[in-house]
Amino acid sequence: MTRVLVTRDLPGGAGDGSPLARLREALGADHVDVWPEFDPPSPEVLLERSEGCAGILCMITDRIDGAFLDARPSVRAVAQLAVGYDNIDVPACTERGVAVTNTPDVLSDATADMAWALLMAAARRLPAGRDAIERGEWGQWNPTWMLSSEVTGRTLGILGPGRIASAVARRASGFEMTVIYAGRSEKPDFPGTFVSLDELLARSDFVSVHVPLTEETRGMCDASFFSRMQRHAVFVNTARGPVVDQPALIAALEDGAIAAAGLDVMTPEPLPPDDPLVSAPNVVLSPHVGSATLETRTKMAHLAVDGLLAGLRGERVRHMLNPDALDAARTKDRS
Ligand code: NAP
Repeated sequence: MTRVLVTRDLPGGAGDGSPLARLREALGADHVDVWPEFDPPSPEVLLERSEGCAGILCMITDRIDGAFLDARPSVRAVAQLAVGYDNIDVPACTERGVAVTNTPDVLSDATADMAWALLMAAARRLPAGRDAIERGEWGQWNPTWMLSSEVTGRTLGILGPGRIASAVARRASGFEMTVIYAGRSEKPDFPGTFVSLDELLARSDFVSVHVPLTEETRGMCDASFFSRMQRHAVFVNTARGPVVDQPALIAALEDGAIAAAGLDVMTPEPLPPDDPLVSAPNVVLSPHVGSATLETRTKMAHLAVDGLLAGLRGERVRHMLNPDALDAARTKDRS
């Protein structure tokens, strides 16, 4: 009997053909346990609830590591409803023969749209304009009031030239922008010119970050990073909050080292309303909703269900992060 835990209700409803209905049909409705609350289960509840489970369909808020897997040796498959998987210790999963999948590609357009929404809102000062209306500070039309940065024809610098970054770069052609990018290596198909990080920061009018959160990228946007940006430049982050040294970003905004920031991700999440980031100057915030369109989240849920079922059956799929785990699982079964 194959029991699985889904750590949050899934988008797309529960009707015929929905992600949850497909999972229930494949495994039997009684074998699919869906955590019913809006907030994630605590680590203790996650552990308790996953007793006897062969699979977990989890979110970025659920920590899956070696200690968890050692306590739950029945788990053979973990399907993450996200492309980023910094909450999962993938090597620990591979060692224990646990297959891990994520949801790449299907969210790239929605997340790129959000990067652009933040870039435009920060560049054109949308929150400041709305605040002025709310405070009754909107006087007669004046040629010097509420001036902001031109977007068309400027230089967009992209850090982390992967799937979402490509979608962001493609959108820049409509604004006749020059696109430059920095990363670990040149990508022949990337729609932009490969430069060093130094050159990217020195030349860009907009810097948009798309690296995964790893030990290498944690804190990479620090005081030195912001000091190398142009004073009129706008910083956009739709990757992960801890990629940024947030006190350094706040200081850069306060000192005018950079002009503005648009952030979908931050530290901590959720951000308390009295956090200094909320009151920092020229910052536009959204609550980690880059992929949050109904269409995209439903596609992510379908892909996560496909990944979970493939992992349980021991089948390789394109979005499996550690196909080697299947070999490790077979060796374990034989021994
Ligand atoms: P991806 O295709 O794997 O792209 C990541 C890129 O970052 C790759 O080009 C990678 O280069 C590069 N990179 C990795 N480490 C680097 C480093 N140390 N320095 C410079 N570049 C580095 O991933 P994706 O699908 O575009 O997603 C990117 C990230 O966006 C995810 O990991 C996730 O954290 C975040 N995300 C956020 C939201 C949201 O709601 N805000 C939604 C989706 C995703 P290599 O090719 O050399 O590995």
